[in-house]
Amino acid sequence: MKLGCPREVKAQEYRVGLTPNAAREAVSQGHEVLIQSGAGLGAGFEDDDYVAAGATIVDTAREVFDATEMIVKVKEPQPAERAMLREGQLLFTYLHLAPDPAQTDDLLASGATCMAYETVTDDRGGLPLLAPMSEVAGRLAPQMGAWSLQKANGGRGVLMGGVPGVGPANVVVVGGGNVGTHAARIAAGMGANVTVLDRSLPRLRYLDDVFGTTFRNRYSTEGALVEVLPEADMVIGAVLIPGAAAPKLISREMLGLMKPGAVLVDVAIDQGGCFETSRATTHDDPVYEVDGIQHYCVANMPGAVPRTSTIALGNATLPFVMALANKGWRKACAEDRHLLAGLNVHAGQLTNAPVAEALGRAF
Ligand code: NAD
Repeated sequence: MKLGCPREVKAQEYRVGLTPNAAREAVSQGHEVLIQSGAGLGAGFEDDDYVAAGATIVDTAREVFDATEMIVKVKEPQPAERAMLREGQLLFTYLHLAPDPAQTDDLLASGATCMAYETVTDDRGGLPLLAPMSEVAGRLAPQMGAWSLQKANGGRGVLMGGVPGVGPANVVVVGGGNVGTHAARIAAGMGANVTVLDRSLPRLRYLDDVFGTTFRNRYSTEGALVEVLPEADMVIGAVLIPGAAAPKLISREMLGLMKPGAVLVDVAIDQGGCFETSRATTHDDPVYEVDGIQHYCVANMPGAVPRTSTIALGNATLPFVMALANKGWRKACAEDRHLLAGLNVHAGQLTNAPVAEALGRAF
């Protein structure tokens, strides 16, 4: 099969759909790979790295779209990219169609077969192509929070790990799922005192079994938050209620319980945020202050570390890319119901029930 990877065109997107290692794997299994010149630069991959892997470099996205049967990307196709898709072509990328009727209409009109990373499932009920980005955001959260805690950045001037004779920072992580667990591990690794709050007892038992005394955990209630907030230097918001907006767990009034210069890192901001005072920010201007409390609320945190994010995403997508290339999408989906769950659009039809329902469209 001919696989193509264009340069991402969405603003502030530096990731790339295929790494040189992924290209090498595809080439070694008999496929042809076309990469748009400069596609990997934002993630630190030169055209020469792809050439060494056996791929061919072309100048324009148009050449990639015209000459290949399967397009592998990161972000949902932008209007100019959608116009280049054609009937029978396979697109494998994040789509997030539910809130995006304009994109949905264009993909339906293209006649292409469009598979969304975010709806591919796994045996444990997880979303394996979203998980790596939660891991990145979780591990990045204490790093950004630690920066915000520095005095010059508006914080209360507390060092995460303390020093001999001076205690460490107190970090509270609300939500102990994918993001929260990685955030807690890194914060604990930086030497902070970490408490994780979650509403799922099975999850709390799991955290206790696996992490022992690395960090503490508590059942999440408003009362528990009221107890921990006065001592917290940093609170990381990492809750998720699938299919719903994030619950507002810390009200503006509750900010008054916190120490001036403490930091909130709201990773759940892509679902509306779990603090009442959260509003989405960008990497250019990531932090703002409300009532003396610093807020870091970047909605696409993995974009801060595109090299790590690209490789992490590529590790997760590669088996699916290879299955689609080796077998064709029909056979690959027939043999793997989890990959089939990724099928969102085929030949002018919506093929994913929850996505169609969210859009109020026929399925
Ligand atoms: P997850 O499902 O693995 O974990 C969510 C956890 O929240 C679960 O353990 C759940 O029990 C817990 N929870 C639900 N209600 C709670 C409550 N009231 N109090 C405490 N815990 C509660 O989800 P995840 O992958 O960890 O993602 C968490 C959030 O981070 C999501 O909103 C996701 O979209 C977001 N996210 C944001 C970025 C970003 O760049 N900002 C990147 C990746 C993920």
